[in-house]
Amino acid sequence: MARRKKVYEGKAKILYEGPEPGTLVQYFKDDATAFNAQKKDVVDGKGVLNNRLSEFFMTGLNAIGVPTHFIRRLNMREQLIRQVEIIPLEVIVRNVAAGSLSTRLGIEEGTALPRPIIEFCYKDDKLGDPLVSEEHILAFGWASQQDLDDVIALSLRVNDFLSGCMLAVGIKLVDFKIEIGRIWDNDYQRLIVADEISPDSCRLWDIETGKKLDKDVFRRDLGSLSDAYTEVARRLGVLPANSGPVTRPTLIN
Ligand code: UDP
Repeated sequence: MARRKKVYEGKAKILYEGPEPGTLVQYFKDDATAFNAQKKDVVDGKGVLNNRLSEFFMTGLNAIGVPTHFIRRLNMREQLIRQVEIIPLEVIVRNVAAGSLSTRLGIEEGTALPRPIIEFCYKDDKLGDPLVSEEHILAFGWASQQDLDDVIALSLRVNDFLSGCMLAVGIKLVDFKIEIGRIWDNDYQRLIVADEISPDSCRLWDIETGKKLDKDVFRRDLGSLSDAYTEVARRLGVLPANSGPVTRPTLIN
Protein backbone atom coordinates (compact mmCIF):
# COMPACT_ATOMS: atom_id res chain seq x y z
CA MET A 1 0.00 0.00 0.00
CA ALA A 2 1.31 3.47 -0.84
CA ARG A 3 2.39 5.49 2.16
CA ARG A 4 0.09 8.41 2.68
CA LYS A 5 1.39 11.89 2.42
CA LYS A 6 2.28 13.80 5.56
CA VAL A 7 0.97 17.35 5.30
CA TYR A 8 2.21 18.74 8.61
CA GLU A 9 3.82 17.54 11.83
CA GLY A 10 3.40 19.50 15.04
CA LYS A 11 4.41 18.85 18.64
CA ALA A 12 1.49 16.59 19.54
CA LYS A 13 -0.17 15.71 16.23
CA ILE A 14 0.52 14.78 12.62
CA LEU A 15 -1.74 15.66 9.70
CA TYR A 16 -1.93 13.37 6.69
CA GLU A 17 -3.72 13.82 3.39
CA GLY A 18 -7.31 12.58 3.74
CA PRO A 19 -9.22 10.12 1.55
CA GLU A 20 -11.18 12.89 -0.20
CA PRO A 21 -10.31 16.43 -1.24
CA GLY A 22 -10.90 18.85 1.60
CA THR A 23 -10.25 16.24 4.29
CA LEU A 24 -7.24 15.36 6.43
CA VAL A 25 -6.40 12.59 8.87
CA GLN A 26 -5.31 13.91 12.26
CA TYR A 27 -3.01 11.53 14.19
CA PHE A 28 -2.51 12.07 17.95
CA LYS A 29 1.03 11.36 19.19
CA ASP A 30 2.05 10.43 22.74
CA ASP A 31 4.57 13.28 22.86
CA ALA A 32 4.11 15.84 25.61
CA THR A 33 5.83 19.21 25.40
CA ALA A 34 5.70 22.36 27.49
CA PHE A 35 7.37 25.76 27.65
CA ASN A 36 7.64 25.96 23.86
CA ALA A 37 9.06 22.40 23.68
CA GLN A 38 11.90 23.05 26.17
CA LYS A 39 10.38 20.28 28.33
CA LYS A 40 9.59 17.04 26.47
CA ASP A 41 8.50 13.52 27.29
CA VAL A 42 6.53 10.63 25.88
CA VAL A 43 3.38 9.78 27.84
CA ASP A 44 2.08 6.32 26.92
CA GLY A 45 -1.54 6.47 25.84
CA LYS A 46 -1.89 10.27 25.81
CA GLY A 47 -2.61 10.32 22.08
CA VAL A 48 -5.33 7.71 22.47
CA LEU A 49 -6.99 9.67 25.28
CA ASN A 50 -6.79 13.01 23.47
CA ASN A 51 -8.21 11.49 20.28
CA ARG A 52 -11.20 10.22 22.28
CA LEU A 53 -11.64 13.38 24.33
CA SER A 54 -11.38 15.69 21.33
CA GLU A 55 -13.94 13.49 19.54
CA PHE A 56 -16.25 13.79 22.56
CA PHE A 57 -16.07 17.59 22.75
CA MET A 58 -16.18 18.25 19.00
CA THR A 59 -19.13 15.87 18.52
CA GLY A 60 -21.01 17.67 21.28
CA LEU A 61 -20.21 21.06 19.78
CA ASN A 62 -21.37 19.93 16.33
CA ALA A 63 -24.59 18.65 17.92
CA ILE A 64 -25.42 22.04 19.45
CA GLY A 65 -24.66 23.90 16.23
CA VAL A 66 -21.12 25.07 16.91
CA PRO A 67 -19.31 24.03 13.72
CA THR A 68 -16.04 22.11 14.06
CA HIS A 69 -13.60 20.38 11.74
CA PHE A 70 -14.38 16.94 13.21
CA ILE A 71 -15.97 14.42 10.83
CA ARG A 72 -15.41 11.04 12.52
CA ARG A 73 -12.92 9.04 14.51
CA LEU A 74 -11.09 6.46 12.41
CA ASN A 75 -9.24 4.43 15.03
CA MET A 76 -7.46 4.70 18.38
CA ARG A 77 -5.18 7.53 17.33
CA GLU A 78 -6.72 9.05 14.22
CA GLN A 79 -9.70 11.12 13.23
CA LEU A 80 -10.98 12.38 9.91
CA ILE A 81 -11.28 16.17 9.83
CA ARG A 82 -12.13 18.93 7.39
CA GLN A 83 -9.15 20.73 5.95
CA VAL A 84 -9.17 24.37 7.00
CA GLU A 85 -7.02 27.41 6.60
CA ILE A 86 -5.89 28.01 10.19
CA ILE A 87 -6.18 31.57 11.46
CA PRO A 88 -2.71 32.14 12.98
CA LEU A 89 -4.05 32.84 16.46
CA GLU A 90 -4.34 30.88 19.68
CA VAL A 91 -7.63 31.95 21.20
CA ILE A 92 -7.54 31.65 24.99
CA VAL A 93 -10.69 31.87 27.08
CA ARG A 94 -10.34 32.24 30.84
CA ASN A 95 -12.88 31.87 33.63
CA VAL A 96 -10.43 31.75 36.54
CA ALA A 97 -6.99 33.37 36.82
CA ALA A 98 -4.09 30.95 36.24
CA GLY A 99 -0.87 30.48 34.31
CA SER A 100 0.43 33.37 32.26
CA LEU A 101 -2.45 35.69 33.24
CA SER A 102 -1.57 35.31 36.92
CA THR A 103 2.13 35.82 36.21
CA ARG A 104 1.59 38.79 33.92
CA LEU A 105 -0.93 40.67 36.05
CA GLY A 106 -0.08 39.44 39.55
CA ILE A 107 -3.54 37.97 40.11
CA GLU A 108 -3.47 34.97 42.42
CA GLU A 109 -4.14 31.62 40.72
CA GLY A 110 -7.69 30.51 41.44
CA THR A 111 -9.23 33.99 41.54
CA ALA A 112 -12.59 33.85 39.75
CA LEU A 113 -12.73 36.39 36.93
CA PRO A 114 -15.69 38.78 36.80
CA ARG A 115 -16.49 37.61 33.25
CA PRO A 116 -14.83 35.31 30.73
CA ILE A 117 -11.72 36.97 29.31
CA ILE A 118 -10.60 36.25 25.76
CA GLU A 119 -6.97 36.67 24.78
CA PHE A 120 -5.21 36.21 21.45
CA CYS A 121 -1.68 34.95 20.91
CA TYR A 122 0.04 35.05 17.54
CA LYS A 123 0.92 31.48 16.54
CA ASP A 124 4.67 31.53 16.02
CA ASP A 125 6.88 29.10 17.94
CA LYS A 126 10.02 31.09 17.15
CA LEU A 127 8.50 34.10 18.90
CA GLY A 128 6.99 32.00 21.71
CA ASP A 129 3.36 32.69 20.67
CA PRO A 130 3.25 36.31 21.91
CA LEU A 131 0.09 37.89 23.28
CA VAL A 132 -1.38 40.30 20.70
CA SER A 133 -4.24 42.77 20.66
CA GLU A 134 -7.11 43.11 18.20
CA GLU A 135 -5.23 46.13 16.82
CA HIS A 136 -2.29 43.91 15.83
CA ILE A 137 -4.59 41.28 14.34
CA LEU A 138 -6.42 43.82 12.17
CA ALA A 139 -3.33 45.84 11.22
CA PHE A 140 -1.36 42.78 10.11
CA GLY A 141 -4.35 41.20 8.38
CA TRP A 142 -4.37 37.93 10.37
CA ALA A 143 -8.16 38.25 10.61
CA SER A 144 -10.81 40.82 9.69
CA GLN A 145 -13.12 42.59 12.13
CA GLN A 146 -15.93 40.28 11.00
CA ASP A 147 -13.70 37.25 11.59
CA LEU A 148 -12.84 38.52 15.07
CA ASP A 149 -16.51 39.04 15.95
CA ASP A 150 -17.21 35.46 14.80
CA VAL A 151 -14.16 34.08 16.65
CA ILE A 152 -15.31 35.73 19.89
CA ALA A 153 -18.89 34.47 19.50
CA LEU A 154 -17.66 30.92 18.74
CA SER A 155 -15.20 30.95 21.64
CA LEU A 156 -17.85 32.02 24.15
CA ARG A 157 -20.18 29.25 22.95
CA VAL A 158 -17.36 26.73 23.29
CA ASN A 159 -16.70 28.08 26.79
CA ASP A 160 -20.33 27.64 27.84
CA PHE A 161 -20.49 24.14 26.40
CA LEU A 162 -17.21 22.95 27.90
CA SER A 163 -17.90 24.60 31.27
CA GLY A 164 -21.24 22.76 31.43
CA CYS A 165 -19.72 19.38 30.42
CA MET A 166 -17.08 19.77 33.10
CA LEU A 167 -19.35 21.08 35.85
CA ALA A 168 -21.56 18.02 35.36
CA VAL A 169 -18.63 15.77 36.32
CA GLY A 170 -17.26 17.87 39.17
CA ILE A 171 -14.54 19.68 37.21
CA LYS A 172 -13.96 23.42 36.94
CA LEU A 173 -12.98 24.72 33.48
CA VAL A 174 -10.35 27.29 34.42
CA ASP A 175 -9.22 28.21 30.91
CA PHE A 176 -8.63 26.71 27.48
CA LYS A 177 -7.09 27.40 24.09
CA ILE A 178 -8.74 26.79 20.74
CA GLU A 179 -7.77 27.36 17.16
CA ILE A 180 -10.14 28.50 14.47
CA GLY A 181 -10.08 27.62 10.77
CA ARG A 182 -11.62 29.07 7.65
CA ILE A 183 -13.54 26.94 5.18
CA TRP A 184 -15.04 28.00 1.89
CA ASP A 185 -18.54 27.05 0.73
CA ASN A 186 -18.44 28.38 -2.83
CA ASP A 187 -17.77 32.11 -2.37
CA TYR A 188 -18.74 32.19 1.30
CA GLN A 189 -16.24 31.68 4.07
CA ARG A 190 -17.20 30.23 7.43
CA LEU A 191 -15.16 29.91 10.59
CA ILE A 192 -15.11 26.61 12.45
CA VAL A 193 -13.40 25.21 15.53
CA ALA A 194 -10.27 23.26 14.49
CA ASP A 195 -7.18 21.58 15.99
CA GLU A 196 -8.13 19.73 19.21
CA ILE A 197 -9.92 20.18 22.50
CA SER A 198 -8.28 18.07 25.19
CA PRO A 199 -6.63 18.36 28.62
CA ASP A 200 -3.46 19.38 26.71
CA SER A 201 -5.11 22.70 25.91
CA CYS A 202 -7.41 23.24 28.93
CA ARG A 203 -6.93 23.84 32.65
CA LEU A 204 -9.21 21.50 34.56
CA TRP A 205 -9.44 21.47 38.36
CA ASP A 206 -11.43 19.06 40.50
CA ILE A 207 -14.16 21.18 42.08
CA GLU A 208 -13.92 19.49 45.50
CA THR A 209 -10.17 19.11 45.94
CA GLY A 210 -8.66 21.56 43.45
CA LYS A 211 -6.58 18.67 42.04
CA LYS A 212 -5.20 19.48 38.59
CA LEU A 213 -6.36 17.17 35.80
CA ASP A 214 -4.62 18.80 32.83
CA LYS A 215 -1.21 19.45 31.26
CA ASP A 216 -0.07 21.44 34.31
CA VAL A 217 0.52 17.98 35.87
CA PHE A 218 3.32 17.62 33.30
CA ARG A 219 4.43 21.28 33.25
CA ARG A 220 4.75 21.39 37.05
CA ASP A 221 5.74 17.73 37.74
CA LEU A 222 2.65 16.98 39.81
CA GLY A 223 2.34 13.24 39.08
CA SER A 224 1.08 11.00 36.29
CA LEU A 225 -0.30 12.85 33.28
CA SER A 226 -1.97 9.75 31.86
CA ASP A 227 -3.73 9.11 35.21
CA ALA A 228 -5.06 12.68 35.16
CA TYR A 229 -6.35 12.44 31.57
CA THR A 230 -7.80 8.98 32.22
CA GLU A 231 -9.69 10.42 35.19
CA VAL A 232 -11.21 13.14 32.97
CA ALA A 233 -12.15 10.59 30.30
CA ARG A 234 -13.73 8.21 32.84
CA ARG A 235 -15.77 10.96 34.49
CA LEU A 236 -17.09 12.09 31.12
CA GLY A 237 -18.03 8.51 30.24
CA VAL A 238 -15.56 8.48 27.35
CA LEU A 239 -13.89 5.41 28.87
CA PRO A 240 -15.81 2.73 30.75
CA ALA A 241 -15.40 3.32 34.50
CA ASN A 242 -13.70 -0.06 34.99
CA SER A 243 -11.45 -0.09 31.92
CA GLY A 244 -7.78 -0.78 32.34
CA PRO A 245 -4.78 1.08 30.95
CA VAL A 246 -5.52 3.12 27.85
CA THR A 247 -3.33 1.03 25.58
CA ARG A 248 -5.64 -2.00 25.97
CA PRO A 249 -7.15 -3.19 22.67
CA THR A 250 -10.70 -2.80 24.10
CA LEU A 251 -10.38 0.86 23.19
CA ILE A 252 -10.08 0.28 19.46
CA ASN A 253 -13.62 1.46 18.77
N1 UDP B 1 -2.41 26.84 25.99
C1 UDP B 1 -2.22 25.92 24.96
N2 UDP B 1 -1.17 26.08 24.11
C2 UDP B 1 -0.29 27.11 24.20
C3 UDP B 1 -0.48 28.05 25.25
C4 UDP B 1 -1.55 27.88 26.13
O1 UDP B 1 -2.99 24.99 24.82
O2 UDP B 1 0.63 27.21 23.38
C5 UDP B 1 -3.53 26.67 26.93
C6 UDP B 1 -3.06 26.24 28.31
O3 UDP B 1 -3.07 24.83 28.42
C7 UDP B 1 -4.09 26.88 29.20
C8 UDP B 1 -4.53 28.13 28.45
O4 UDP B 1 -4.16 27.92 27.09
O5 UDP B 1 -5.21 26.03 29.33
C9 UDP B 1 -3.89 29.39 28.98
O6 UDP B 1 -2.50 29.23 29.00
P1 UDP B 1 -1.55 30.35 29.62
O7 UDP B 1 -1.63 31.56 28.76
O8 UDP B 1 -1.87 30.53 31.05
O9 UDP B 1 -0.10 29.82 29.37
P2 UDP B 1 0.82 28.83 30.19
O10 UDP B 1 0.69 29.17 31.63
O11 UDP B 1 0.30 27.49 29.83
O12 UDP B 1 2.16 29.13 29.61
